[in-house]
Amino acid sequence: MKPPTPPHSHPSRPTQATKRVLLASPRGWCAGVDRAVAAVEKALELYGAPVYVRHEIVHNKYVVQTLERKGAIFVEQTDEVPEGSIVVLSAHGVAPTVHTEAAERMLTTIDATCPLVTKVHKEATRYANDDYDILLIGHQGHEEVIGTTGQAPDHIQLVDGPTDAAKVEVRDEAKVVWLSQTTLSVDETMETVDTLKTRFPNLLSPPSDDICYATQNRQIAVKKLAEDAQLVIVVGSRNSSNSQRMVEAALGAGADTAYLVDFADEIDEAWLHGVTTVGLTSGASAPDVLVDSVLKWLAGHGYTDVETVKTADQSITFSLPKELRRNLRTQPVDDL
Ligand code: SF4
Repeated sequence: MKPPTPPHSHPSRPTQATKRVLLASPRGWCAGVDRAVAAVEKALELYGAPVYVRHEIVHNKYVVQTLERKGAIFVEQTDEVPEGSIVVLSAHGVAPTVHTEAAERMLTTIDATCPLVTKVHKEATRYANDDYDILLIGHQGHEEVIGTTGQAPDHIQLVDGPTDAAKVEVRDEAKVVWLSQTTLSVDETMETVDTLKTRFPNLLSPPSDDICYATQNRQIAVKKLAEDAQLVIVVGSRNSSNSQRMVEAALGAGADTAYLVDFADEIDEAWLHGVTTVGLTSGASAPDVLVDSVLKWLAGHGYTDVETVKTADQSITFSLPKELRRNLRTQPVDDL
């Protein structure tokens, strides 16, 4: 593998017959996903199987299947968890009512909500307490949107794109704020915000970006790949919002084709027809082992030249959920 190119450098031009792969950096697991998966693994280690997990801990098939093999049981609703059991809440966050239901069932709850989702929850609560109308830009039915709306259901309305933005109504145009899901397309969100601003000139923006660093820097990286790659492959699951947005970002930035795959064996050889440069990246919930298997598959099809295209450094990490940190402190040091 060639050494990484410096941030924002242009990938080298291929020689005529070279088939090459441009590998995005950053890509793959973000700090919130890493923390959520580690939380389930640590809970299994501390309490033994089974550990229940409400919703897919992160939106990735491979991760869910791997944790199932280790003893995690995934459920949709809290009332599917036997009373008195251990339950981990997913990285996407939940409404406060879920904590109440869990307490009623005497569950030991480990909340793996990503701290960057919690930040949006806190913003929602604060603006609701100040009696603002909150316009939450996000995708209807996404777990994160359900959890954020649940923080202040009487004050939040979902705005799912510019069409919704053109028709949403508020009580007082002087007290309106927009917030967003953390995993949206930056460009599309700004379009929606522009529409909202033409309707509500006093619209307040969130104090800091709600679309998280991982979503943003992966979109920037995939756009860079798309400038030179005819085909872009994003490794990620269909229900992963940030992975889907990366496919859209690649197409928007000039890739001829872009596909989302969970596993290497989903790649269709026909996609490679006439392609000299493949861009490869992965969503924030996809582990690098899946990218490695795609690299291997591509090498088997002649794409042996791999060049890393680096657009940002990424060093953010989050500590384990507080419930586990507390339990770890009660363990003898030798056991840690
Ligand atoms: Fe947190 Fe962003 Fe990762 Fe979601 S994508 S878990 S908000 S860091």
